[in-house]
Amino acid sequence: MDINVILTNYEEDENGCWNWKGNTTGSRGYGQARFNGKHYYVHRLVAEVYIKEMQPHNIIHHTCNNPRCINPDHIEICESQSEHLGRYKAQHNKSGRPKV
Ligand SMILES: [Zn+2]
Repeated sequence: MDINVILTNYEEDENGCWNWKGNTTGSRGYGQARFNGKHYYVHRLVAEVYIKEMQPHNIIHHTCNNPRCINPDHIEICESQSEHLGRYKAQHNKSGRPKV
């Protein structure tokens, strides 16, 4: 897949999320695409293109709690697992439900 095809293969919803229209993977349903002969998580590709070069230890945090979303405005790059956990906890209550 061409990177420009990947970056435009979404449908915007009423929350401003760019919902990936291609394949998804894993229990949470992250968008996945084939690029340069390898499989990538689409939100990581988007972060790399729009935000900064990704390092292997970087973890993506979705501020919208939507794993299929590839809107760079809804994506933050965390430097560590604990940073990501902190952001996740700030957005979810103890049962794992998103705070409204
Ligand atoms: Zn979103």
